[in-house]
Amino acid sequence: MSSTYTRRDFLKTTSFSAILAGTSCMAGKLGSIDTPIFDDINKTVNTYCEMCSSRCQIEAKVEKGKVTFIQGNAHSKGMNTSICARGASGHSQLYDEQRLVKPLIRVGKRGEDKWMAVSYDEAFNFISEKLTKIKKEYGAKSVLFSGKTGEHFNHLTTFTSLFGSPNLFSHVSTCPISYKVAFHHTYGAGLKRDFPNSKYILNFGHNLFEGIAVSKTKKFAKAVNKDSCKLVVLEPRFSVVAAKADEWYSVKPGTDLAFVLSLIHVWLRDGKYDKEFVENYTVGIEKLKESTKTTTPKWQEKITGIKAEVAEKVANELYAAAPSCIIDWGHKTTTGQSEFQRTRAILVANALMGNLEKEGGLFFGKKAKTVNKVANINIAPEISNPDKHIKMVKDLRVDKASQEGENIFVSRKYGVLMDIPDAILSKKPYEVKAWVMTRTNPLVTVANPQKMKEAMNKLDLIVVNDVYMSETAQMADVVLPEATYLERDEGIHDVSSKAPAYMMRNKVVEPINKTLTSYEIFRALAKKMNIDSEYKWNNINSYRAHQSKGDIKLLEKLAKDGYASFDIPALLYREKSYVDKFVEKYPTASSNLDENGLLTKMMKFKTPSGKIEIFSQTIEDAFAGYGVPANHDMDVQKGYPYIITSGKTAIHTNGHTQNIPYLNMLMSDNPVWINPLTAKKENLKNGDKIFLENDVGKEKATVFITEGIRPDTLFVYMGFGRDSKELKRADGKGTCQSKLLSLDKGPVCSTMITNTGVKITRA
Ligand code: SF4
Repeated sequence: MSSTYTRRDFLKTTSFSAILAGTSCMAGKLGSIDTPIFDDINKTVNTYCEMCSSRCQIEAKVEKGKVTFIQGNAHSKGMNTSICARGASGHSQLYDEQRLVKPLIRVGKRGEDKWMAVSYDEAFNFISEKLTKIKKEYGAKSVLFSGKTGEHFNHLTTFTSLFGSPNLFSHVSTCPISYKVAFHHTYGAGLKRDFPNSKYILNFGHNLFEGIAVSKTKKFAKAVNKDSCKLVVLEPRFSVVAAKADEWYSVKPGTDLAFVLSLIHVWLRDGKYDKEFVENYTVGIEKLKESTKTTTPKWQEKITGIKAEVAEKVANELYAAAPSCIIDWGHKTTTGQSEFQRTRAILVANALMGNLEKEGGLFFGKKAKTVNKVANINIAPEISNPDKHIKMVKDLRVDKASQEGENIFVSRKYGVLMDIPDAILSKKPYEVKAWVMTRTNPLVTVANPQKMKEAMNKLDLIVVNDVYMSETAQMADVVLPEATYLERDEGIHDVSSKAPAYMMRNKVVEPINKTLTSYEIFRALAKKMNIDSEYKWNNINSYRAHQSKGDIKLLEKLAKDGYASFDIPALLYREKSYVDKFVEKYPTASSNLDENGLLTKMMKFKTPSGKIEIFSQTIEDAFAGYGVPANHDMDVQKGYPYIITSGKTAIHTNGHTQNIPYLNMLMSDNPVWINPLTAKKENLKNGDKIFLENDVGKEKATVFITEGIRPDTLFVYMGFGRDSKELKRADGKGTCQSKLLSLDKGPVCSTMITNTGVKITRA
C-alpha cells in the first residue's frame, strides 16, 4: 500500500484527506513516517516485558535515545539478567516499520484494506458517535468488548462497565480456563508450584522450556537438572521438556485423564496416600474410591497407549517422593472434551499426596495482605485497585457466562469467545451490533475463524486497538495503534510467590509518533463520551498513587528498580523450618501457630465445605456425573485417521509475534510434524505440500518428518498461517490450526478444544 501523499505530506497532515490505496507502505505505519527524532539520551530503565503474558522483569538499555539492548532485571532475584529470545527482541517490535503508529478509519469495504489516517481525536469522535448511536438504538449490551488479560484489560473492563455492557471477554476461554475453574471448585483458589525443591515432577506437557516464563523456567531447569529430582513427561510429541525428562511417554492426545485416574486407583487400592491430610482437609474420598474402582493401569493402557507397569511404577514413585512432589496441571495440554476432568483429577491427585504447603509441593501465593494477617502487623505494603468501585454490569450476557446454562462456571470477566459467532449470527439472546477489542486477534487464536469472520461481517462497528495490522484489525472500522510496552508507564502489578513482591512498568522511551497507551485510549474515550465521572484518576501518576495508597517510598523503589520485595522470609504453612524462620522474625505471628508449631490455621479453602473438594456438590448439581473425577469424553479423533495438536515455540508467542523482524528471521514457518510410519503410509516426503482437512475446514501444510511424534498424531506450532497482507513477513506462511477447530467447548469449564481429528490430502 502507498499513500497518495508523500511521507512529508503525511507528516504535515492530520486531516481525513490521507486516503490510501497502493502498494508499499501504509500511512498508518511507522515505515511511512520519516525516522523519528530522538533525544541524545543514554540510560537504563527497569520495567517488565510484554512480548508474552509471562511478564518477566527486564532492564532496557537506551543509547542516544534508542533502545539497543534488553536483558533480565537483576533486581529480581528469580530473573537475574536472563531473558528469552522474544524478550530480547522487544526493540525489534518497537522500531518495526510495519508497526502501526497512526489511527486508521476504514474507507473501503470491510476487510478490503483501504484506510484513511486520522488523529486520535478524530478516531475518538468517530467511535464515540457510533457507539452512542448503537447504545441508543439497541442498548449498551449490544456492544461486545474483548482483550487479552494484562493491565490494558483492566482498563477495558472499567470502560465496559462505564459504557454499561455486560459483555466483556478475555482470552481465558481459549487458554487457561480449565485450571482456573477446576482450582476454584477444588481448593477455592489457585496454587503455585515449588519446582526448585521438588523430588518428583509428573508433567503433562507443561512445556516451560518453550512456553517460557523466565524465572519459572529457570527454577524448573534447576530442579530437573538435579539428580535428586525425577521428571516424567507425558506428551504426544518429543518437545523440549520431553527431551529433558528422565522418562518420556508419548501419550495419545486427550487421554491424560485415564493415566491420572489409574494413579489414583493404585494409591486408593494400596492405601498409599496421605490419610491424615485427606481426613483433615478434604471431602469426598469415598466417592473417589467408587469412581476409580475400575480405572486400573491395565484399563488405561488401552486408552493412552502407555503400559500398565508404567502407571504402577509412577504411582509408587510419586508416593515415595511425597509430599515433595508435583503433579503438574500445566497450562493447557492435550485439550479435548475431557480437559476439565483431567485437570480436576490432577488437582485431586496432588491432594492425595498431601503436598500442600510442603517444600517441593504446592502452595498458596503469599500476598502482602496475607503475610500481614499471619504476622498480625503490617510487614508489607498493600495495594488497591483505583477502579474497584466501578462494578461490572449484571444484565444478561450473550454467552450467559456465570449466569445460566453450560457457561455457569465461567467468570463474567472471562466469557466464552467461542460463543460469539453464534450469538451474532443467530441474534440470540439479542442483537449484537459492535465489538471493541484491545490486543486480541480472534481470527487467529480462536477456533473456526471462518465463522468468526462471517459473524464480524454482520457488525455495524468494529474497533481494534493493536500494535500491528492483525487479521482482526483488517476487519475493523477503526484501528487504534497502541504504544508498545517499552513506551508505556503503567500501574503496579502483584508478583507475590512465597513472599510478597511487586513490579511496575516504566516507560523506556517516549512513544513513537505519540501513540497512546490503552489506559489513555479508554480514559480519553470515556471522557469524549461523557461517561468518565466515576474515574478517581486522570493520568498514570494519579493511578499509581491510588494503587500504592500514597506510599511514596514504594513508588520510588518501583520507578527505580521496576521490582520490589521486602526481605520477608519465604513462607510455607506446613513446613516447620519456614514457619520457625517467619515467627523468629515476626514474633507477633506466634498467636496463629497450631499445636504442632505450624500455621495450618492460615490455610483457608474458599469452597462451600471449607475443605478441598474431591467431590463437589456444586459441580454435580450443575453437571451431573462431573462432581468427582471420573472417566469421561476422551475421544478427540472423531473417526478421522489422525489427531492434530498444537503447542508453543520458544521463538514466538501465540499469534502475536510472527511478524516481528528478529523473531521472523529465527522462525517464519510451522511445518507439520509427521511420524515416518505415517509418511510412508501417506507416501509423503519432507517438504511436500499437503492439506489437512476435516468437517470444519481445510488448511495447507508443509511436511516435516520426525520420530518425535506418534504415528496417529500430527503437530504444528501455533500462531502461523497468517493472512493479513500488512504483516508482510508473516503473511501466507505456515498452517493455522484454528481453521480446523470446531466451536465446541469442553464441558463444565467451557474451554476451547485444541485437538481434533483430520485427514491428509495432497495439495
Ligand atoms: S518469557 Fe520472554 S517474552 Fe515472555 S515475558 Fe518473559 S522475557 Fe518476555
